[in-house]
Amino acid sequence: MTDSRSTTPPLRVAIIGAGPSGLYAAEALTSQDDLDVSIDVFDRLPAPFGLARYGVAPDHLSLRSVRNTLANVFDHPAMRLLGNVEVGADITVEELHRFYDAIVFTYGAATDQRLEIPGEDLAGNLSATEFVNWYCGHPDAGSEHVEATITAATSAVVIGVGNVAIDVTRVLSKTASELDHTDMPQHVLDLLAASSITSVTVLGRRGPAQAAFTTKELRELGELADADVLVDPDDLTLDPVSRADIDGERRRERNVEVLREWSTREDGESRRTISLRFFSQPVEILGADSVTGVRVERTRLDDDGALSGTGELVTIDADLVVRSVGYRGMPLAGVPFDSTRAVVPHDEGRVLDDTTVVPGEYVAGWIKRGATGVIGTNKKDATATIRSVVADAPQLPRAARPDPDAVTALLSDRGVHYVNVDGWRAIDAAEIALG
Ligand code: NAP
Repeated sequence: MTDSRSTTPPLRVAIIGAGPSGLYAAEALTSQDDLDVSIDVFDRLPAPFGLARYGVAPDHLSLRSVRNTLANVFDHPAMRLLGNVEVGADITVEELHRFYDAIVFTYGAATDQRLEIPGEDLAGNLSATEFVNWYCGHPDAGSEHVEATITAATSAVVIGVGNVAIDVTRVLSKTASELDHTDMPQHVLDLLAASSITSVTVLGRRGPAQAAFTTKELRELGELADADVLVDPDDLTLDPVSRADIDGERRRERNVEVLREWSTREDGESRRTISLRFFSQPVEILGADSVTGVRVERTRLDDDGALSGTGELVTIDADLVVRSVGYRGMPLAGVPFDSTRAVVPHDEGRVLDDTTVVPGEYVAGWIKRGATGVIGTNKKDATATIRSVVADAPQLPRAARPDPDAVTALLSDRGVHYVNVDGWRAIDAAEIALG
């Protein structure tokens, strides 16, 4: 029997985005028994790992260790990293088709959702993305702006009740010694240690039964060294919709149990207070030059679960507002985009232009399904997309210039200083040496 792998040239694959989805896609490709592949992973940043590096909170050390597993993907001889290359700017998608038989878009959801309420652009507002980028040491972090905003603050409102809102609240509420053993940059540790924030109010527009956070992350707020958690027992009176939402849903059930226990706690002696408030929809961020408070409307759930305002308004005093209401995917020039859902439309991971499959283009991760799920969700998602790549491989139109040197020559001609695996490992070693 002839080994088809010795006669067919390897499938040349470009993966756009070196976060978990991209690297899980690469891993799924390199573990195919019957397909030779040659993979280039592009990333706009010099270092790989996307949100596993610049999103997972630096005090969640065990979660961050997923980077070690992802790093092993680069040990495979079929793999190259082309970091510091922005697809769409340094090289177009149309050009990529000259060099690759298949392109897998895994570039995630780079921007944050806005509230679209008055006052959102006043000084004293931060998006969760700005705050998270800063504490993770992201090269795009507007450090001066974030640091000036945090330094001036004494009371914060965090809008949204997802896991990112919980990360933001926890990081704002931890003591210096709780943050010490994390891989946060030193300037971040110093600034948080000196923070004057004594109250953090977290706002959910629906009820505790509908909150997006996971119980493990929620529980951590109740275990902080110098922060008391407060919940209004009235928010835990469950309406029929909430009872139905909880029924058989372990995560929701456990969330409500944790919140119920907290609702019996008294305000203690701790330096900081975390108040979790539900049925609270921000309608305006108040202030003349900078934030002085948030106007909030009480809400209720209608019989069909729809949210409606009750007209009852309260003002929460605050000089810092962090909106944490989810991420949003962005279009990439030359790639179909559904601007309503902020995703690349697909059929089993094959990119769709209207209803037609675009040959050789695939999508996985947040830019495929929206900004949902934990890191592990992306493994299943990327593996499903790669099943489509593998099924299509024999019929894919082959690239005109598959030689791996052709694409790097083009980048060099354009003066693009791409970072390969050795370059990134050198940066990594230097960063580790710096502590
Ligand atoms: P998310 O889970 O989608 O939560 C967004 C929150 O914002 C929801 O509570 C949502 O409420 C609220 N919201 C949306 N629009 C709003 C508005 N206009 N006004 C008020 N509230 C609004 O998003 P995320 O927290 O950014 O997390 C993204 C993904 O990353 C999630 O899958 C999350 O689990 C994951 N993640 C995981 C971890 C971890 O595992 N430790 C850490 C961080 C992030 P509604 O439900 O009412 O829309």
